[in-house]
Amino acid sequence: MTAEPVIDTHDSPTAAVPPSTVRASLSPSRAADFKTCPLLYRFRSIDRLPERPTVEQARGTLVHAVLERLFDLPAAARTPQSAGDLVAPQWDRLVTEQPELATLFAADDTAGAAEFLRSAAALLQGYFAVEDPRRLEPAEREALISAVVDEELLIRGYLDRLDVAPDGALRVVDYKTGGAPREAFEARALFQLKFYALVLWRTRGVVPRVLRLLYLKDAEVCDYTPDAEELLRFERTVVALWQAIEQATARQDFRPRPSRLCDWCSHQALCPSFGGTPPPFPAAGAGDPLTDARSRPAAPGADE
Ligand code: SF4
Repeated sequence: MTAEPVIDTHDSPTAAVPPSTVRASLSPSRAADFKTCPLLYRFRSIDRLPERPTVEQARGTLVHAVLERLFDLPAAARTPQSAGDLVAPQWDRLVTEQPELATLFAADDTAGAAEFLRSAAALLQGYFAVEDPRRLEPAEREALISAVVDEELLIRGYLDRLDVAPDGALRVVDYKTGGAPREAFEARALFQLKFYALVLWRTRGVVPRVLRLLYLKDAEVCDYTPDAEELLRFERTVVALWQAIEQATARQDFRPRPSRLCDWCSHQALCPSFGGTPPPFPAAGAGDPLTDARSRPAAPGADE
């Protein structure tokens, strides 16, 4: 098994130029979908069924946006007050860029919209309880990173933040804003972090020293230290996962796997486990697997 670095881009996913041997790509969100429930993967990545944004997802996107912009400020200005001041303007920007977010609140529901902004500000207070951003200078924020594994699979995703110590040690930081019970999502969150660690290891030759989950609601930090052997095993897991996705696609066979995560699934009405019937399997040749939506990484915060 070999790996090959791909040009990293921190601005545009389309700027990544994979080697010509690459024939498929996989993001941590979509890989985690398949691992969680193959039918969920199918609904999201093959049927591409729309999902209405939820208030919780929107809050996650907003908090991620504020934390990214916070580090644009001079170190001394990165205060709780400054973060709070960024909430409303960042929400306005997000609604302009993603008009569907405006549908979360009825036009006359000003109280609901105000409470939403207050709840985002409260999560940011949780952030300040676990970190002091005045003492940090992140190397990268909301960075798209990618690598080729097994010579033909491009793995890529957005990491929330990458810190680089003076000795070159890497720390990958992921902000978690969801209000759902942590146990339901922790395995998925760790899977995503290992995915980023694998990409960094394969492109920079350095195993990240720390993978850090920051749970803003609970103001808690969860650190994990990977090693090269573990990442090698993880790489095999990712390749095997992709092969399983290819087989399932060839057989048009994506089975439901009910779990606690069903409570957060938008597609229960079409799921046999809930008495539904999936739509006919889409015709083959839906698009370029390197550029189409099935492999596009979710933006930071959009997959809470
Ligand atoms: S409801 Fe549960 S089993 Fe059905 S598709 Fe969604 S996650 Fe899978």
